[in-house]
Formats: sequence, C-alpha cells, structure tokens
Amino acid sequence: MKTYPFQDFHDVDAAVVFCVDPRFWRQTLQFVEEELGTAKFDPYTYPGGPLCLARPESMQLYLNNIKAASFELHHAKKVILISHDKCGGYRLIEGVDGEEATNRQTSHLGEIKSKFQSEFPDVEVEAYMLKIISDTEITFEKI
Ligand SMILES: [Zn+2]
Repeated sequence: MKTYPFQDFHDVDAAVVFCVDPRFWRQTLQFVEEELGTAKFDPYTYPGGPLCLARPESMQLYLNNIKAASFELHHAKKVILISHDKCGGYRLIEGVDGEEATNRQTSHLGEIKSKFQSEFPDVEVEAYMLKIISDTEITFEKI
C-alpha cells in the first residue's frame, strides 16, 4: 500500500476561491503558497472560481460554507479570490468571452469584496487575476 504524508493541523490562514480549470489550478496553489506565503488554506473551486460568489444559485451556499468551515471552524482571517484569463466557466455560465469576460470578472471581484467586507468586517479580502502572458507562461496580478 502506498502511503502519503500529512500534517495534522486545524487552523488556516485563508479561504482561497479559484477555478477548476486544469491548466491553472496547480500554479494557483503554487502562487498562494510560494508568492503569497500562505501555507495553510481551505480551497474552494468552481467553474469560474469566484463566480460561485456572484451567481444567485451558488452565492449563499459558498458564503455559508466559507463562513462555517473557514471562518468559524478553521479561524481563517482572509479570503483570496483568484480569477483567470480565458475562463471557460465565464463562457459557459455567464456567456461572455474576451474583454467582456475580463470586465465581468473585475466587477464580480469588486462586488464579492464588498459583500465580504460588509458581512465579515474582520476578514481581509484580496483579489487576483491570473494573466496569460504567452503560450507557455502565466502570472498573477493583484486587483
Ligand atoms: Zn476558469
């Protein structure tokens, strides 16, 4: 039987909301761990990432889960929202592409930030955009 190491801990620094896109989730975790220095976090994925917190059918569910699991149980003090270029989730669920998608994502990130800040004033909210810079490279920009 193959075994895998694990660390027994309870509290996390943040709830991280990002897209299921298989091209980007590994780098997203790497960005959060290495560039942001956030080693312990609860991951929340959804097609479109933070879109789950903007859509009427999923907003309350994700807010409730983040509140119960990350804030109350794991004592997270931060939410990190990460959207990305060429998101299939936005194309599929919102029906937008290209610049229109980028604009929609930016406005959603702003709305979600305000929502958290009004409902959970003690929690810090950061938003990032994963930018495709070439056929083989991406980077993350703070919004
Ligand atoms: Zn996506």
